[in-house]
Amino acid sequence: MTEKIGIVGAGIVGLAVARELAATRGAEVTVLEKEGRVAAHQTGHNSGVVHAGIYYPPGSLKARLCREGVALLKEYCAANELPYDEVGKLVIASTSAERPRLSALAERARANGVPGIAELDALALREIEPHAVGVGAIHSPHTAICDFPAVARRLALDVVELGGSVRLSHPVRAIRERPAGVQVLAGRRRFAFDRLVVCGGLWTDAVARMAGHPGDVRIVPFRGEFYALRGAAKDLVRGLIYPVPDPRYPFLGVHLTRQTDGEVLVGPNAVLALAYEGYRWRNIRNFRQILGWPGTLRMARQHWRTGLKEVHGSLSKRAFLRAAQRYVPELTSADLVRVPGGVRAQAVSRDGRLVDDFVVDVHGNVVLVRNAPSPAATSSLAIAKHIAGIVPALVR
Ligand SMILES: Cc1cc2nc3c(=O)[nH]c(=O)nc-3n(C[C@H](O)[C@H](O)[C@H](O)COP(=O)(O)OP(=O)(O)OC[C@H]3O[C@@H](n4cnc5c(N)ncnc54)[C@H](O)[C@@H]3O)c2cc1C
Repeated sequence: MTEKIGIVGAGIVGLAVARELAATRGAEVTVLEKEGRVAAHQTGHNSGVVHAGIYYPPGSLKARLCREGVALLKEYCAANELPYDEVGKLVIASTSAERPRLSALAERARANGVPGIAELDALALREIEPHAVGVGAIHSPHTAICDFPAVARRLALDVVELGGSVRLSHPVRAIRERPAGVQVLAGRRRFAFDRLVVCGGLWTDAVARMAGHPGDVRIVPFRGEFYALRGAAKDLVRGLIYPVPDPRYPFLGVHLTRQTDGEVLVGPNAVLALAYEGYRWRNIRNFRQILGWPGTLRMARQHWRTGLKEVHGSLSKRAFLRAAQRYVPELTSADLVRVPGGVRAQAVSRDGRLVDDFVVDVHGNVVLVRNAPSPAATSSLAIAKHIAGIVPALVR
């Protein structure tokens, strides 16, 4: 009998998992998505960067699945004629105090097998990005950009071509686990699956609770706001310009990123949001759940200085501009126009730690993706293979 597997969430991770399970296990897959389109949340609101694997601790899931994911994604985009452009990335040290961290990053990138990493001085970095400044940089020539929503739409087509279905406007409302399988109420329909894989992004906790597995981390949403460069200012950036990240955080700092459609984004910052879909300040719909998690306040206590700086950057265009001018001084306020941002789903532990690595849990017939922040879009095809390997096989 054909194995029936339900997947919650039609973001890039859920769709990649569905395609992988249908293609390699011959499963009959059904993707349940609450919105009326695929890629409605994180997958459709990000920087569009195919990360090369520079930042992640060697041996971590992020390091391994990012490198594997890049290769799979590059091949997938080529096979499906989707945009994929190796525009290259500079990570720039703007003071000599940042140099040791830059060298450590170069070492880590090499340990992760990132190809072509070069350490550049102030002059050499301008050969790559003529309008950028800094005391030194590392160059990753194969870091790329792609169109993640287009990848997600193509994955959804693959799922259907493999005999599965993608049911939009089907919010999962209840989950009941039985010894023989999982019953799911989505929209007004009931589904019976042998296995369920939850890739709910910002809403992971709600779905995990429905399944009876609340777990010991919670999603805390961080809004990432963006500006876009206007007119001729777009020519000031050829590829991707990043700061040296603060090793205390999984966020990479405000960066300048060329997009596949020719736009150049500046951002994102990282502001604690009080709603899972907190795309705007005034949305505080989930403040009780978010502030009710002890880890949120512990995290806020540990990082309040950075938090205040991020809030200032969010409210003041000038602060945002200053962050960008540190790397591209020719930019002016008139060059920046506000564009819609995204919200990151970041798992935080009870003691206030920002969980760095990807986390996937198996509970009987239910597999829960608990933490899939950046670079999960880059890594999605490799995450799918990883999950297909741990979804318990059916014994009949
Ligand atoms: C500002 C920003 C910049 C980023 N930049 C990059 C980058 O450059 N490169 C990179 O690799 N990654 C980046 N990321 C991270 C990347 O976007 C995410 O890691 C990735 O998209 C996660 O995919 P997902 O499928 O897990 O989540 P999502 O895309 O959020 O999908 C989850 C889906 O689950 C659905 N859902 C939730 N609850 C239910 C329910 N009850 N019933 C049915 N459906 C439900 C949601 O509607 C949603 O569509 C960035 C993220 C942000 C926010």
